[in-house]
Amino acid sequence: MLVSTKEMLTAAQAGHYAVGAFNVENLEFVMAVVRAAEEKRSPVILQTTPGTIKYASLDYFSSMVHTAASRAHVPIALHLDHGDGFDRCIQAIRAGYTSVMIDGSHVPFEENVALTSSVTKVAQAIDLPVEAELGKVGGKEDDGPAVKGESPYTDPEQAVEFVARTHCTSLAIGIGTAHGVYKGTPHIEQGILKEIRSKLEIPLVLHGTSGVPDDQVKEAINNGICKVNYATELRQAFTRGFMGYMASNPSCFDPKKPSKNGMQEIMAVVESHMDNLDSTNKA
Ligand SMILES: [Zn+2]
Repeated sequence: MLVSTKEMLTAAQAGHYAVGAFNVENLEFVMAVVRAAEEKRSPVILQTTPGTIKYASLDYFSSMVHTAASRAHVPIALHLDHGDGFDRCIQAIRAGYTSVMIDGSHVPFEENVALTSSVTKVAQAIDLPVEAELGKVGGKEDDGPAVKGESPYTDPEQAVEFVARTHCTSLAIGIGTAHGVYKGTPHIEQGILKEIRSKLEIPLVLHGTSGVPDDQVKEAINNGICKVNYATELRQAFTRGFMGYMASNPSCFDPKKPSKNGMQEIMAVVESHMDNLDSTNKA
């Protein structure tokens, strides 16, 4: 069934676990992530970035996920990841997304407040959750490696003011993670997270989690994170499975065969994360 992220994240927060938000790139990603959720009896969030939306379109992804959700026995939400403007968010809502993120983390504080508020004002009217971002998650969501040493942390006091003024319903925070592939071992600033958690009631979101050791993620969940995003690891998994099949079967020209291998690899990654996030058997 298709639901919004609101009830999902509220339940996760109350139950001290986190829901995985997995970036999907094509039909195979959608099928693999949903199958993994069914195997694990776990709620799940499928999300797409503007880059992925440019590759296909909002309605393509919306149709695929609506079809998957109508057949699934676990709650599924469709979320716009890193919404890059008011228009994109509204277009996603119209296309049937059940949750959006407006990312104003790249503009100054006051501009971020104004941009986020423009989206929450509309979304609130139809009771749709809005994730915002304050502080910086290093790297770039759609391409490029994580930038070393470039991850300014979210200021806890500023976070309180930001949420009060924008009415966003969840917040992505900068606590040391980065998008893309890590060059060294990442380090989550658990102290900053705890301080933000103690001052804010709304669900907190961890971005750039691919490559972060499971124990650090688990500790972050204990400290109040209840949505955890994974993109890079799924891309790597699918490509590994696909290429692996083709390397052993170079004469194959049926894309369904290597794709099945890719899906198996995605399922293994997603299922393992669901166990670590403790969302298994929470559907
Ligand atoms: Zn992100």
